[in-house]
Amino acid sequence: MTIHIPFDNSYSRLPSRFYARVAPTPVSTPRLVKVNRQLAHELGLDPDALASPEGLDVHAGTRVPEGAEPIAMAYAGHQFGHFVPQLGDGRAILLGEVVDKNGVRRDIQLKGSGLTPFSRNGDGRAALGPVLREYIVSEAMAALGVPTTRALAAVMTGQRVYREKALPGAVLTRVAASHVRVGTFQFFAARGDFDSVRRLADYAIERHYPELTESGRPYRAFLDAVVTRQADLVAQWMLIGFIHGVMNTDNTAVSGETIDYGPCAFMDAYDPATVFSSIDQFGRYAYGNQPGIAQWNMARLAECLLPLLDEDREKAVGEATEAMTLYAERYNRSYLAGMRRKLGLFTEQEGDLALAQDLLSRMAANQADFTLTFRRLCDASLGPGGDSAVRSLFQDPAAYDEWAERWRHRLADEHRAAEERRGAMRGANPAFIPRNHRVEAALKAAVEAQDFAPFERLLDVLSKPYEDQPEFAEYAEPPPPAERVYQTFCGT
Ligand code: AMP
Ligand code: MG
Repeated sequence: MTIHIPFDNSYSRLPSRFYARVAPTPVSTPRLVKVNRQLAHELGLDPDALASPEGLDVHAGTRVPEGAEPIAMAYAGHQFGHFVPQLGDGRAILLGEVVDKNGVRRDIQLKGSGLTPFSRNGDGRAALGPVLREYIVSEAMAALGVPTTRALAAVMTGQRVYREKALPGAVLTRVAASHVRVGTFQFFAARGDFDSVRRLADYAIERHYPELTESGRPYRAFLDAVVTRQADLVAQWMLIGFIHGVMNTDNTAVSGETIDYGPCAFMDAYDPATVFSSIDQFGRYAYGNQPGIAQWNMARLAECLLPLLDEDREKAVGEATEAMTLYAERYNRSYLAGMRRKLGLFTEQEGDLALAQDLLSRMAANQADFTLTFRRLCDASLGPGGDSAVRSLFQDPAAYDEWAERWRHRLADEHRAAEERRGAMRGANPAFIPRNHRVEAALKAAVEAQDFAPFERLLDVLSKPYEDQPEFAEYAEPPPPAERVYQTFCGT
């Protein structure tokens, strides 16, 4: 079966300082783990061809398909607050772009496909565990309705990679609206190369915000648009209990997609101070810090764009400051709108945010499970008959009762059919998230026993997060104490 990918590449048409041309490194004995058939359809690709021996060689980096123009992208980035002027794709290679069935241009990238000029001290490779984690969590995010890069395929390379110990190597085929990051802008700005900054901004506008080309001030409009999408994105993370874990500027896409799933994790019990990443010693990227960190990252983008905003430095800084205010307003609005949906509120009242915050602080004080609390509130919205399932999640159930009384009072101000409200709430409060203990178990079975059944099952369950799926009820449950996961690792 011959594989045909209708590449239509644009990034590799940019000047050569934007990337390095480099082919993936062939591997000895690749083995297919998974092809995402539904995503293949969306991209207009033949899933059978992607799963064929030839397709396997493409995903493994052994065969460069016709029309691909493999490059490693150059970028810089603030890592945990410290600027690194050169990072770049150290273990990823962009094969090229395709235009999907909806007319959207998408990158097809191999992650873990060998050395590039940006590899620094790394081996250019990825281990199976992190590849499967990214596959699971990015696909779960997509099903939850959160903008994200996607996973088109995962393969094993047949080679070992050495981290703390020898591990099976793997390659993820990643699909993204683009891989342009805040760090890509920083790469050029830090070199004082503002021609390239402008070039990159023009590229990003055309690709992600084409309506802005007509704007009289396209760069300010671009900054506002990125800021808006980022604010909406992080609000969505907060509303489902997602913790990215490495919100460095090189892991912030200007498309507004979630990108780079390293030590990411979902919260079980609600606690805004939650940190899972083993490398985040000071909790910089804790759950509750994410909105502020995203704003900080947007400020770094604004800095890069200053010369494009206005010739007068002071005026440019004024423009950038306005954009930061826009971020804060947009985030607050987006988060509150989402919270109203979670609580079943169709109208807006002054005290709604306080009502939500009161619930959250009671949850925090009582170690209530974030996802289950909101999911069970859907039934409780029908009447107090649903209360016992919610209150049992609180160490002190009375803490819920007091709040529930206020909530019912608020609901009574709205004249909506109870079933309509419950239905809307169920669409905003997932039953299934990629719980860490389930993810870890799936990875362990795959890595230690080449048993991919738990991985497949988990993907299946997570593809319908808002449905009850009674046959998989145990996947909705938080971990028993012995299975609790306290730390996650990048595995790079
Ligand atoms: P990440 O933490 O995955 O976002 O990666 C940060 C930077 O380190 C990026 O420039 C990566 O390309 C690079 N990197 C991570 N792991 C490796 C590796 N195994 N080999 C080469 N470069 C890597
Ligand atoms: Mg990264």
